[in-house]
Amino acid sequence: MPERIATTSDCAKCAALCCVAYPSDDMPGFAASKRSGEPCPRLAPCGTCTIYEDRERLGFGGCIAYDCFGAGQFVTQALSHSGAQPGRTVATQAMIDRFLLVRPAFDLLRLAQRLADDNLPPEHESRRVSIVRSLEDALLTGDPASVEHVLLPAKAALRDLYAARSMQNRKGNLNSRRAHALVG
Ligand code: SF4
Ligand code: SF4
Repeated sequence: MPERIATTSDCAKCAALCCVAYPSDDMPGFAASKRSGEPCPRLAPCGTCTIYEDRERLGFGGCIAYDCFGAGQFVTQALSHSGAQPGRTVATQAMIDRFLLVRPAFDLLRLAQRLADDNLPPEHESRRVSIVRSLEDALLTGDPASVEHVLLPAKAALRDLYAARSMQNRKGNLNSRRAHALVG
């Protein structure tokens, strides 16, 4: 199934939303203090990080570890009406609010997409596809209520799916150990 929403971050197409949206209390490995909606003191007005290569050394290692899984560019592209170049768009409050809302959905979408490489049995694959579709549909409506509505069911379904996969892997390992014991 082709993916309709990318879950790989593309910072060049984003208004540096992660550098603005979060309060520093929610940013581990962030050596500054700021409120949600306030730009990081290391962010240049053009939307680039002024200490990019030195973040670890200066106490901003959390920024290196952080990944929005595509939420940043998705929201920037959806809500940017300025005609500005991608990556030069200024984060608006509407973008920040939307980013904070959709970010958990991108985490779930990423987890569901990752399972595509696992050669799941057909019934599990069909559940996986249904989770991906529900998340993508909600995100593509652009309606915050739709995103909120889908989060809990998608999370529960994904947890079940990962548990089923883990059980299947354990059985597979057991069978392979038994086979190994028989022939070895
Ligand atoms: S929000 Fe995501 S895409 Fe935007 S700058 Fe941060 S990591 Fe990059
Ligand atoms: S240190 Fe750089 S990457 Fe980290 S939040 Fe500030 S501007 Fe963004």
